[in-house]
Amino acid sequence: MTYATSNQLRSIESRISSLSETLEGSTSKNGGGISISGGTAANTYKASATSTRPPPPPPPHNFTTQPSRNPLSRLQINSLNTAITSYKSATSASTNTLSTSIDSPTRRQTSKRPPTRIEVKRISLLPSRKSTTSASIYKKKKSATGENTRQSSSSSTHSSTNSSTTPPHLTSSLSTSVYNPLKGISSKNYSLSDFEIGKTLGKGKLGKVYCAREKNTGFVCALKVMSKKDIIDFKIEKNFRREVEIQSQLRHKSISRLYGYFYDSENVYLILEYAIYGELYQHLKTQRRFNDVTASHYIYQMAQGLSYLHSKHIIHRDIKPENILLSFNNTIKISDFGWSVRHSPGTSQRRLTMCGTLDYLPPEMIESKDHDVGVDIWALGVLCFELLVGKPPFEEIDKNATYKRIAKVDLKIPSFVSVEAADLIQILLQHNPKKRFQLNDIPNHPWIQKNMKYWPSSVNE
Ligand code: ATP
Ligand code: MG
Repeated sequence: MTYATSNQLRSIESRISSLSETLEGSTSKNGGGISISGGTAANTYKASATSTRPPPPPPPHNFTTQPSRNPLSRLQINSLNTAITSYKSATSASTNTLSTSIDSPTRRQTSKRPPTRIEVKRISLLPSRKSTTSASIYKKKKSATGENTRQSSSSSTHSSTNSSTTPPHLTSSLSTSVYNPLKGISSKNYSLSDFEIGKTLGKGKLGKVYCAREKNTGFVCALKVMSKKDIIDFKIEKNFRREVEIQSQLRHKSISRLYGYFYDSENVYLILEYAIYGELYQHLKTQRRFNDVTASHYIYQMAQGLSYLHSKHIIHRDIKPENILLSFNNTIKISDFGWSVRHSPGTSQRRLTMCGTLDYLPPEMIESKDHDVGVDIWALGVLCFELLVGKPPFEEIDKNATYKRIAKVDLKIPSFVSVEAADLIQILLQHNPKKRFQLNDIPNHPWIQKNMKYWPSSVNE
C-alpha cells in the first residue's frame, strides 16, 4: 500500500472541505456547532470536566493511533487509498450507465436483519405516516406491491411497474424531465454527466447508492438514485421532500451530509457524503459485539448528533445500526432521515405515528401515546445494548412478545456488560420519556468518562 505525502494529504483535505461547499446547493451555511439546551435528567453526572483527562495509555483495542498534527490519520490515508483504488477499478467498468440491473451483489444484500426484523422493517415501508398498527401497515404494503410476505424489502421496489398506481397527470410529465418531486428545494444545477459512476455501495428500499466522482472537482461522494416512478407509485413524495429538506439543512460531523440533488426524466439523484466503511450494522454483525471502548465511542457521537438534531427540533425516529454509517477514524454518520420530523416543543402538537423498527420502538409508540424527542433517547438505549450484546434488548421471535417486553421494559442485561454501561442503558431505557437520561449529560456519564481516553484523538479535537 502506498501512502500519500503529508502535503498531498493536506491538499486533499482542504479540497474535500472546499469541494463539499461547492457541491452544496444554495442551502444556508449556518449551524454546524452543537447547540445543547439544558436538560432535566433525574440522574446527572455534571461535575466531571472533560478537560482534565489524563494522557491516553496504550489502547487495548483496534483503533489506530495517529499523530495529532496530521490532518488525516494513517487509517484515513489507508482508507482514502482504498477508496480511490476501489473507485478507480469500478469506474473503468461503468461510467454513467446507471441501471438497476448492472450491479453485482452489494454489502446491503448481506446485511439484512433476521426475518423477524425484516417484517418489522415493513413499518418503514408505509407510504403514508398515518397512525396505524403494524398489521395494517403490513397489509397495505403487501397489497401495494403484490409481494409475498417473505420477500426482502430492498428487492421489492425495483420490479414495481404497476402504472395503474401512477396518477394520470403525472404519467405524462414523467415521460419528460419536467416532473421534479423536490420542486422548490434549491440545489445547484448538476446532471448525471457531471459524475463518473463507480461501484454500488448499497441498495435501499427505493433506490441504489453508488460511489461517484464529480468530474470537474474530483470530489468523491455517494449518489443515491431513486426512480421518480417509484416515488410516485409508493406515494412517498411528501416524505421524500421532507427527508431532503431536513437533511440538506443539517451540518454536523456525526450526521451524513446531503449536498444537493438533481433529476432527469427517470430518476432523482441525491448527492450524499460518502461514508467509506458503510453500515455500522454490517460491522456489528462481523464482530458480533463491540467492546466498551468502541461502543462508548459510537454512543458518545450518537448523543452529539442527536443533541444537534433535537436542538433544531428534529426527531430522527429511526435510529438503529442500519441507519448509522461509518467514516474515517470510526466516526459515525447518522443517515436515513426518511422518518424524521420537525416538532415544536411546548405546543399542543401531538405526534402519534408509529414508525421505525419494532425492536427500537419506545413504549409510548407501542401504547399509541404521543411522542417527542424521547423516542430517539430510548432508541439510543436500545442501540447501546445492541452494540454491547449483539442483539437488541427486547428481541423475540414473536413480535407481540417483543411489544409486551417493551411495554413492561423487561430489560435483562447480561452479566458481561460492565456496571457503568448497564447503568447508562437503564437510565436511557426509562418507560417515562421525561425520566430518560438527557443527551447532553451523556459525555459526563462514568462509562463515557472511563473509556474516552482510549478513543482516537481526532474525536476529541
Ligand atoms: P431507505 O430507507 O431510504 O430506503 P435504506 O436505508 O434502506 O434507504 P439507503 O439509504 O438507500 O438504504 O442506502 C442503501 C445502502 O447504501 C446503505 O445500507 C449503505 O450500505 C449504502 N449507503 C447509503 N448511503 C451511503 C453513503 N453516504 N456512503 C456510503 N454508503 C452508503
Ligand atoms: Mg435505512
